[in-house]
Amino acid sequence: MVEIHRLRPSSCGEPYFCPKPGPLSPFLDEPISQLPGLGGVKAALLRSELGIGRVRDLLEHYPYRYIDKTLIRSIREVLTHPDTALVQGVLSPFQYQGAGHKKRLIAYLRDDTATLELVWFKGGKIIESVLQPGQTYTAYGKVQRFRGKATMVHPEMESLQGDSPRDLTFDPVYSTTEGLSKKGLDTKGIRKIIRQIIPRLTPSMVPENIPDDILQNLRLPGRLEALKQIHFPVSQPALEAARNRLKFEELFFIQLDLLLSKMHRQRDLVGYVFDAVGEQVNRFYSDFLPFSLTEAQKRVIREIRRDLGAGSQMNRLLQGDVGSGKTVVALMAMLIALDNGYQSCLVAPTEILAQQHFQSLKDLIRGMGIRIGLLTGSVTGQTRKLTLQYLADGTLHFLIGTHAVLEEPVQFQRLGLAITDEQHRFGVAQRAALWKKSHPHPPHVLVMTATPIPRTLALTIYGDLDVSIIDELPPGRKPITTELWYENKRLRLIGFMKEQIALGRQVYVVYPLIEESATLDLLNLEEGLAALQREFPRPDYQISVVHGRMPSADKEMEMQRFLRKETQIMVATTVIEVGVNVPNASVMVIENAERFGLSQLHQLRGRVGRGADQSYCILMTNGKMSNEARVRLTTMCRTNNGFEIADVDLKLRGPGDMEGTRQSGVQGLKIADLREDGRILTTARTMAAVLLDKDPQLNDPAHQRVRRHLQATNRQQGSWSRIS
Ligand code: ADP
Ligand code: MG
Repeated sequence: MVEIHRLRPSSCGEPYFCPKPGPLSPFLDEPISQLPGLGGVKAALLRSELGIGRVRDLLEHYPYRYIDKTLIRSIREVLTHPDTALVQGVLSPFQYQGAGHKKRLIAYLRDDTATLELVWFKGGKIIESVLQPGQTYTAYGKVQRFRGKATMVHPEMESLQGDSPRDLTFDPVYSTTEGLSKKGLDTKGIRKIIRQIIPRLTPSMVPENIPDDILQNLRLPGRLEALKQIHFPVSQPALEAARNRLKFEELFFIQLDLLLSKMHRQRDLVGYVFDAVGEQVNRFYSDFLPFSLTEAQKRVIREIRRDLGAGSQMNRLLQGDVGSGKTVVALMAMLIALDNGYQSCLVAPTEILAQQHFQSLKDLIRGMGIRIGLLTGSVTGQTRKLTLQYLADGTLHFLIGTHAVLEEPVQFQRLGLAITDEQHRFGVAQRAALWKKSHPHPPHVLVMTATPIPRTLALTIYGDLDVSIIDELPPGRKPITTELWYENKRLRLIGFMKEQIALGRQVYVVYPLIEESATLDLLNLEEGLAALQREFPRPDYQISVVHGRMPSADKEMEMQRFLRKETQIMVATTVIEVGVNVPNASVMVIENAERFGLSQLHQLRGRVGRGADQSYCILMTNGKMSNEARVRLTTMCRTNNGFEIADVDLKLRGPGDMEGTRQSGVQGLKIADLREDGRILTTARTMAAVLLDKDPQLNDPAHQRVRRHLQATNRQQGSWSRIS
């Protein structure tokens, strides 16, 4: 998970509005056990199964779809054109067919035109007990053809009894559970309860919370109206309008909350002012920088420079695809700190990465007279002692290291800037340690990550931080060629690897290692390794192995051997995913590629393509895979663009599963879907920013409703923007 320090200041005075807990609302904040028909057991079950405790929660249990009863189709038509459909007819008596695990419950639904078979593979007992043969029902579901017979499998059944003709339009369908259904709280049961609540709602219970000018501008219905329509829409357009309104409302308040946090942070966290654009930056830029910066790098450096001079603490996330050139951006920031008389540190998650950073920074600034040190677990004895001493007395300007940098005895003379690379390995406590290394103010913080996330997600997760994006690769990179190969090309793969090795290149072969099937996976890796050892025998070839179950000293040693080109093949699990730079490695073979996630595949591929040679990524698969896996692999073959890949990943998995979202509010979204609602989100963000720009204290009478809503929700859930 991407972790960044963010905080909500406890002090809360002028000039920005700070939501304080608001009053309880009668009725909506009552427990649902007060509602007629929801005795203790049912209420308790709703709470434990769906997290619904108060009336408000029930109202926010929005339908996930609707049955359009104006679209009842004839069974004859459905039999000839099998599809997902709604039909209506009289139910026949039940019968069981088959035995053992093939046992299933069958019934028939007959209308004037034909008869349709209905089938249930599970839950037969409940179905039998709630449905009555001879009655008229609607059945909704997918009609499948099997051995020439059409069947509706696990239909959603509803009795039409007691419905008035007016109700025959859109029926909301609610998510529920088996346990709740057994207690009568199936979708129809829930619908019945919500139908009782809606007429009791008054404008004062559901006060409008969005300013009128915004509502008019965006042609959104009022809040109460939207709530009514989302549950019981009178028409398709009314439903659309209600849905848009509620999505906008949800995203608008999240954005307001994030922007408020950001304003508080900028006001309350005083930072060192780095306003000198000094000698070292200029010297480096004109005499030492070995290439010209890309436009994206220049833009990001400007953004960082502006932050560093602004007087408040910088808290910036730098996103850039693998190989986009984040290191030199970090260096420029460190030079700015130096020109202002401050030290900087750069912390990496592994020893190898720290060493690599140390080496490449040292190369870049060689001859500038800047003193740079390395501090990792393996720096010991006299070297360590001197490093600590020079750090404390200000002799060292830059310190590169691992977690060792965060330890107690490490004292800086004047730490002004802390940079972390591939930070999702850092925990909360570690970041706090970093903050404490500087007085009186915390250091400016720059967090670098190579895990691109789509803009919609970034706005929602990092909306209160500053985000810089390097969206351009340095010129002249040869795009990596990615291909999907099946088992029948195994021989060709061996040949290809041999060719590449003969050209002096090195090869990665990566196996999946999933915790749940770790033993089997390791076996897989070992078999693969044995096969490779047969094909690539010593002494002509040397093979390194690295996996997560090895002692870390052994891992280091194997990595070093590969780095020094003593081995030609590196067999590994995903431990090599992060950051490692071996420019001479030009082939990445990923075994069982269908088992990897998309962002993981992309990270792995980023390990090659770092040198001047044409690089290859070969995705090996035995061909058995889900449709989703196929999309992942074809996406990899189609594009090298990390942001495009992140977009596909978001669409496939949904935001809740994406890296970085686990503890954020994204999962708590009740109606907005970041996969589809990017435009609404952008509008909400803009509207929230404009509002706070005009009226940061929310003093305008027209904005009192916004203020009250923030206060009310703050009482309900605290501020979810307080992520870490
Ligand atoms: P990452 O963003 O993955 O950390 P690096 O900073 O390691 O990327 O840069 C990858 C390689 O690209 C390095 O060898 C670096 O020297 C080189 N590089 C960075 N910026 C440029 C540029 N503007 N032009 C040419 N090469 C560049
Ligand atoms: Mg890097």
